[in-house]
Amino acid sequence: MKIEDFDEKESLKNILWGMGVGTWEWNIQTGETRFNERWAEIVGFRLEELQPTNIDTWMSLAHPDDLAESEARLDAHFKGETDFYECEARMRHKEGHWVWVLDRGRIITWTAANEPEWIVGTHLDITERKEMELAFHEKAEELRLSNKELEQFAYVASHDLRQPLRMINSYLQMLERRLGKELSAENKKMMDFAVKGAQRLDQMLLALLDYSRVGRKGQPKESFHLAEGLQEALLFLQPDIQDSQAKIRWEPENLEAWPQVQASPDEMTRLFQNLLSNALKYRYKDQSPDIRVTLTSEQEHWKIRVQDNGIGIDPEQSERLFQVFQRLHTQQEYAGTGVGLAVVRKIVERHGGQVGVEPNTSGQGSCFYFTLSC
Ligand code: ADP
Repeated sequence: MKIEDFDEKESLKNILWGMGVGTWEWNIQTGETRFNERWAEIVGFRLEELQPTNIDTWMSLAHPDDLAESEARLDAHFKGETDFYECEARMRHKEGHWVWVLDRGRIITWTAANEPEWIVGTHLDITERKEMELAFHEKAEELRLSNKELEQFAYVASHDLRQPLRMINSYLQMLERRLGKELSAENKKMMDFAVKGAQRLDQMLLALLDYSRVGRKGQPKESFHLAEGLQEALLFLQPDIQDSQAKIRWEPENLEAWPQVQASPDEMTRLFQNLLSNALKYRYKDQSPDIRVTLTSEQEHWKIRVQDNGIGIDPEQSERLFQVFQRLHTQQEYAGTGVGLAVVRKIVERHGGQVGVEPNTSGQGSCFYFTLSC
């Protein structure tokens, strides 16, 4: 047989077979139904095993839980509400497992009374995609739950541990007062260490509490003018700015030119506040801070950089600094709890952005950046 001898219908049949497409034709009025060989193969049969075929063939293989959805969509198409029928449904395989199919069809003839008559359509095996989708959703759900649990744990731990700690603190102070002069210089030193240790622990618990509150206690996301977050943070930091005689510039200089973003207002303020307060804090003691906040537009997001002229960061250490309690300095050198950058990361990631450290173009100091979608 030469290629010219194939009629169009035959060619079409072969193309569909090659693409792995099952076909069905259903007379809605009489129930008469025809399938191609591939339709049967998807559910593990040879076509002759299913003969004689009618609409019950389909019904008996379809998953009972998917029938209502499929019927509703067919009905919508019959009523002319949709241009075609489409549904993802499960079919029982000959070996007993379920196969996912993408079922699509369209009415092609109507009766004299204008009732839908023949509808023809296709079955495409989408089991692999569906299983991947389901596994992905399961993993995402697992992750969501374990994140929630962790946050709850961090909250409960930090909140509840503060109570007995307060007790330790106040009894230590009472003891110190009562023993007063009786304490030898050495014992007094030890008592001081104990008090300082308890206070430090309280600061750390408070910081952890703060961290666990990001996303749970903050204002919901709304359309927010990013410059407002910057301005408010600068306002909160006024005492530090004045003390250190810091120079702070921002670009674009005109704050009106800064964008509106979908964000939680108080979290944006907090984000700027944490980065700016670090830029003020980690300075050379004999140099006033010189800080630049710049906004640039990149493909699908805004990039905000906070650059300072301070002590800078070893690039190899930068990644771990975004984890809770990670610091590069002692309490004596620079006070802090090591949670500020972890809060920054949590806020940015909650807003779908990224955060990191870049080489500072001015050669000295550090450059932190974060991104927000446009
Ligand atoms: P904290 O400031 O309370 O220690 P952070 O999480 O804000 O906590 O910062 C973690 C560490 O990152 C700091 O201890 C410091 O070592 C380093 N760091 C943060 N910001 C800067 C900066 N602008 N310049 C230099 N080092 C910084």
